[in-house]
Amino acid sequence: MIDLRSDTVTRPSREMLEAMFSARVGDDVFGDDPTVIALEEHAAAMFGKEAALFCPSGTMTNQVAINVHTRPGDEVICHKFSHVYYYEGGAIMRNSGASVCLLDGPRGQITAGEVETHINPDDIHRPVTSLVEAENTMNKGGGTIYKYADLEAISEVCRRHGLKFHLDGARLFNALAETGEKPGIYGRLFDSVSICLSKGLGAPVGSLLLGEKSFIRKARRVRKAFGGAMRQAGYLAAAGLYALEHNVGRLKMDNDRARHLGGLLATHPLVESVIPVETNIVIFTLKKKNGAMDFLARLKEHDIHAITIDPQTVRFVTHLDFSDSMLSQTESVLKTL
Ligand SMILES: *Cc1c(COP(=O)(O)O)cnc(C)c1O
Repeated sequence: MIDLRSDTVTRPSREMLEAMFSARVGDDVFGDDPTVIALEEHAAAMFGKEAALFCPSGTMTNQVAINVHTRPGDEVICHKFSHVYYYEGGAIMRNSGASVCLLDGPRGQITAGEVETHINPDDIHRPVTSLVEAENTMNKGGGTIYKYADLEAISEVCRRHGLKFHLDGARLFNALAETGEKPGIYGRLFDSVSICLSKGLGAPVGSLLLGEKSFIRKARRVRKAFGGAMRQAGYLAAAGLYALEHNVGRLKMDNDRARHLGGLLATHPLVESVIPVETNIVIFTLKKKNGAMDFLARLKEHDIHAITIDPQTVRFVTHLDFSDSMLSQTESVLKTL
């Protein structure tokens, strides 16, 4: 089976499983699981942050951060296609009682200028703008990478207006694999950063929220209230530590394979257009209206699996368990369609 549905489909390797088997654990709700502590300290140090919090999912790290940064009735500025708004079940409104100000913008990215014009004035009629959120890479925008200077400009606007700035960095490491930047410069820019261990890094479960100590102390309380405090979580944290230590350096390969697929699709007779591939996500629109389901069905006959983004648009995501031989196989099948 060739699974291009998402980079979440990876299974732990033997080495990762061995790291999990041999993990030293405690009870993380009592704060004495040594492997969870090691993971949190390792990640915080990578990003130059004081502390980190291990959570079951990226939805939880994002939503815990939003809950700490906002009060009910506040407003969060984010892109209309941002994961925190579009793909998290209405959690901003549901869990934090906060409102959203949804920005438009090409390929899912927001700009400092747009952010600044949407900050509400100090007027009792208007919700209090308290948080800005950016996603890097931007999933629905086609795995796009923000220019660091553009994020820096947004962060400067946030600082000037006393707003918090949160990064949904579920796939930040796929961006860093292209730009060669170090994670620390992202830690400096944002009040909080969320990274996923269960996407390109290949861990079965888990995400990390990074921030200053006082922020993480509050986040720990919110995680408990959201039901995300886990006991012998060190078995999962061991997978995360293994992922950070061994699977970051190989992400460029996933990006290169995605770029190769993007190139094939750009000249494919059934394909209208491909969003330029920057990382490990390939989003392409078919010529035939409502043709996406049919295209997926034809791939499925060859045991290749993907998802649709809308009735005419398909997404491929490359990952740790998508090899060069699977790439050649996919290439051959695409040529027959
Ligand atoms: C996957 C993803 C998340 C988190 O998703 P979970 O399935 O809850 O771990 C957050 N942001 C983006 C951009 C993602 O792609």
